[in-house]
Amino acid sequence: MKHLLILALITTTLLLGCSDNSNDITANDAAEVSFHDMTLEELRVNIGNEAIMDLTPEEIAGLVFMREEEKLARDVYLTFHDQYGVNIFNNIAGSEQMHTDAVLLLLDRYGIADPVGDNPVGVFENEALQALYDDLIAEGSQSLEDALFVGCAIEEIDILDLEEYMAGTVYKDLLLVYRHLLDGSFNHLRAYVPFWENQTGLVYEPRFLSVEQFEEIMSASGPGGGNGNGGGGNGGNGGGGGGGNN
Ligand code: ZN
Ligand code: ZN
Repeated sequence: MKHLLILALITTTLLLGCSDNSNDITANDAAEVSFHDMTLEELRVNIGNEAIMDLTPEEIAGLVFMREEEKLARDVYLTFHDQYGVNIFNNIAGSEQMHTDAVLLLLDRYGIADPVGDNPVGVFENEALQALYDDLIAEGSQSLEDALFVGCAIEEIDILDLEEYMAGTVYKDLLLVYRHLLDGSFNHLRAYVPFWENQTGLVYEPRFLSVEQFEEIMSASGPGGGNGNGGGGNGGNGGGGGGGNN
């Protein structure tokens, strides 16, 4: 609930374009460009405008984790693209590459060791992420439907993790990157869900997000919405069935 409230606050600030706090980077940037439209170079410039802060161990751990979690998303989608040749995986993998690069900007900025380095696709330093990757590949390798379902799951997990790390910091440089990633995950969920529904003829039900938050994200007016990328098509998409989880 705490996460939802913070998300709602940030979203409200974005939509209204005003804030009581004139130093709020989210408000300042909202007038220029939506967070997920920012290029890596724009992120770099905006981050560079902020003071270097004294990060807590939790903030550092969050950056290290998200660097690899975004790599996990990229690696899973690249693998599924190889398996199924469906462009949605390739397209979103490109976005995840930028996400993991964006987190690297912060690791470099704070002199934090990069857990990715030259690790190839499917290799992770974090054991939990390695196990998650292995499980998701096994699940998604059964069929295209399963692979799309995994895509939805990754984006749901990403959203929850990002909200947790956003709730754990007040620093604008971290929040800017996390917000960029979060808006990306909203877009990706709005792309994967209707694809899965069309493929299966079932109605998607969230695996990790609350139904309330899921529906808010999927609606065109939801957080980070309005890009027309699958938004607004929720309900009536495929009809029939209910659930459809394996
Ligand atoms: Zn991402
Ligand atoms: Zn994503």
